[in-house]
Amino acid sequence: NKHDYIRNFSIIAHIDHGKSTLADRIMEMTQTVSKRDLKDQMLDSMDVEREHGITVKSRTVRVFYQARNGQEYKYNLLDTPGHVDFSYEVSKSLAASEGVILLVDATQGVQAQTIANYQIAKENHLVIIPVINKMDSPNANMDQTRQQIIESMDFNEQDILYISAKTGQGVADVLERIQAVISPPAGSVEKPLKALVFDLHYDPYKGVIAYIRLFEGSLDKEKTLVFMATQAGFEPIEIGVFLPHMQSTGSLSAGEVGYIVTGLKEVQRVKLGDTLTSSADPVQEPLPGYKESKSTVFAGFYPSDDRYKDFENAIHRLALNDSSFRYEEEQSDLLGKGFRCGFLGMLHLQIIRERLEKEYGVTVLTTAPNVSYHVIMKNGKELWVNNPVNYPPFVQVERVEEPFSEVTITLPEEYIGDMMKLVTSRKGIFYDLSYQSNQAILKYEMPASEIAYDFFDQLKSISRGYATMDVKYKEYRTADLVKAEILVNYLQIDALAFILHREDVYHTASELVLKLKHTIPRKLYPMPVQVLVEGKVIAREDVPPLRKNAAVSGEKKSISKKQALLRRQNMNKRKMESSDIRLPQEVFNTILEMG
Ligand code: GDP
Ligand code: MG
Repeated sequence: NKHDYIRNFSIIAHIDHGKSTLADRIMEMTQTVSKRDLKDQMLDSMDVEREHGITVKSRTVRVFYQARNGQEYKYNLLDTPGHVDFSYEVSKSLAASEGVILLVDATQGVQAQTIANYQIAKENHLVIIPVINKMDSPNANMDQTRQQIIESMDFNEQDILYISAKTGQGVADVLERIQAVISPPAGSVEKPLKALVFDLHYDPYKGVIAYIRLFEGSLDKEKTLVFMATQAGFEPIEIGVFLPHMQSTGSLSAGEVGYIVTGLKEVQRVKLGDTLTSSADPVQEPLPGYKESKSTVFAGFYPSDDRYKDFENAIHRLALNDSSFRYEEEQSDLLGKGFRCGFLGMLHLQIIRERLEKEYGVTVLTTAPNVSYHVIMKNGKELWVNNPVNYPPFVQVERVEEPFSEVTITLPEEYIGDMMKLVTSRKGIFYDLSYQSNQAILKYEMPASEIAYDFFDQLKSISRGYATMDVKYKEYRTADLVKAEILVNYLQIDALAFILHREDVYHTASELVLKLKHTIPRKLYPMPVQVLVEGKVIAREDVPPLRKNAAVSGEKKSISKKQALLRRQNMNKRKMESSDIRLPQEVFNTILEMG
């Protein structure tokens, strides 16, 4: 049987444990890419990935492996991201795999995300090959890492392989182990076509390109195809595989991973997780597809120039490529038409924003991010608020609930004291401390809003980069929250409103007005900046006026004329329109950075 010699597997691990580097070595050792053409972390081909040094999108590449028994195997390797904000990408890759390589960095040991990945692979009934990486590093602690793997997961000593993805040492054994223990794909070439759409991509010339894993049947250009959920039919323009560039093959069959150029231009006609089948001989039951991702952080995205249509197109096309990015239209008094967007975390928000700028050439104005609040009103109604603008007047609110998460922090013992301080300052509730080798594992419950903003960076900086964390949503809990509104020159600026804990209100408000005083563009007259909470102004600073040379030099008479004019302008302040105020991204960043 042809697909006895196919193996589909994902490389999974905590961030920076060496997944993309192992993919490099595999491509090199199988002569998929010549040494001359190979770049470090070659599959991280997006600009944002190279700049941040992380994988954001899963990648797939087909390589041929000549096994020690003389048999040639076709391997489909899927490299996945390690950061929790991109875990949706991992689950997509696992649905197209029969096995995984679970990497553990010997300089860091088993991390929260290692265990999380292990569990996802188990749930998907995949064969897991545990591999310890970075054995070349002087900081590698092989014995301890091996011990951690045996203690925390269900492996024996002889299951574990040892490699350096950097030098290639031990990688040959990984390649050999893959064909020995990972099962070939099931499914028959003779049956009707059944393929999973596991990723999508919009090409300005070719339209929608679907990345597919065939479970049954085969595919060639002669067949008319249909996406089952959307019922969109089309004739394939091109069919091929990833080497890692797209290479046309003209056909694919059961067990294989590849792509299909649909020619469809409307992105709404294609959905991730959909089943592709043939129009003439369709399957009855679609594949289970994917669970929808749940956004945890929300923010408004607005075009920072007047090219709204380009902006909208860019949003649609990017969302096709990243289905964990959610959006719906919204309208702001100050900023006009835009989108309320949902993300899996703050890094996700930042990456989406950069991708819109780099890949689609649109610049984005981002409002302060927030989590989703559950508001219970005095009249018994309940609502979900993920935009501060929709927060009801405080007199109508009975109580508010906010999301709480369970946070597991793994770190060297010496940082425990500082970490406890940090977590407590973020309203963390301690509930467990344990040790694994010389690593401490701290467990807390924390408001999701406190984790969402810059907690990860803080955690890294107080632990010299050693601490890692894993976050799991827990439940909604009642909290004492208020909405803060910002008034610039007595005009309420909707896009600057935000929701925060009452205990932080005075501190945050006074710090904020000071910062806004220096970031809001000046006018000819002084403008007060105020923070209004539950009907009371709790902080105020004045944005100083622009200095006009004419007003200080020149004759006395002209000075007073000028002053009279300024005074008149000041009197008219209440009539000011929001269109008179232009706020640069800097102003929004001020709020964004307040956390
Ligand atoms: P990923 O996030 O899991 O994809 O990790 P990368 O492949 O991007 O690697 C993260 C960092 O670890 C990079 O700086 C690599 O050069 C480094 N690295 C990866 N494998 C090894 C290894 O075997 N030995 C050493 N010393 N460094 C490695
Ligand atoms: Mg990577």
